[in-house]
Amino acid sequence: MESVNSSKPRYECLLFDLDDTLYPFSSGLSEACTNNIIEFMVEKLRIDEDGVVELNDILYKKHGTTMAGLKAIGYEFDNDEYHSYVHGRLPYENLKPDPILRNLLLSLPFRKLVFSNGDDTHVTKALKRLDIEDCFERIISFETLNPKIHDSCVSDSLICCKPAEIAFEKAFDIAQLNPYTTLFFDDSIRNIQTGKSAGLHTVLVGKSEKVYGSDYALESIHNMKEAFPELWSESNNKNKKPESIGYATQISIETSVQA
Ligand SMILES: [Mg+2]
Repeated sequence: MESVNSSKPRYECLLFDLDDTLYPFSSGLSEACTNNIIEFMVEKLRIDEDGVVELNDILYKKHGTTMAGLKAIGYEFDNDEYHSYVHGRLPYENLKPDPILRNLLLSLPFRKLVFSNGDDTHVTKALKRLDIEDCFERIISFETLNPKIHDSCVSDSLICCKPAEIAFEKAFDIAQLNPYTTLFFDDSIRNIQTGKSAGLHTVLVGKSEKVYGSDYALESIHNMKEAFPELWSESNNKNKKPESIGYATQISIETSVQA
């Protein structure tokens, strides 16, 4: 049961997905990523072009990521090669420094973590482009959830990734976070739904309407302050020093950089 005791903040941790959550879908990275995945399937795995789009869709929906799906149905390939093929050519130049998001994050006196199915290289590169890489305590990435056991990938047919419940459990364990005092932001409905059943408070990002499993909906991550003024409230920030932020707000802000 949630505590509403005023002496105990409701939230202790903020957990963020990366892609299409910390930057918008309109950046074009997701679309480019899908195209690269399909190209990998055709060029590297010799999957017939006819039906490859449909297969990608099926695997993504059934297994969380296409990569996990390809492994599950028996394809063998090197994880790093896949990631560099799929992410290496993304239009990262479309991601620009986001001072609004940076200020929001830095003014939030909570533990902040990124929880992405992406590999370390991709996550780090995107966060750097957005100029928010130093706003987080840690990144939970593909490598975090799937530590290398072998150099080759022959036996890693089971990839751990969102939205599998085990991925959430691993993330909680690795980061030592309590889901019941964590606010989770993700653009994926199924990730939100698993997150909710795992105990997280959930925020669907990129949509204006809530869905089953989401406690809140947020059209843009930039709307955090309007949606959750209590995160900046005095009761949550009583031990924090003031930090000025570069835009108007009706909320009294008494925070410091904790990243
Ligand atoms: Mg996402």
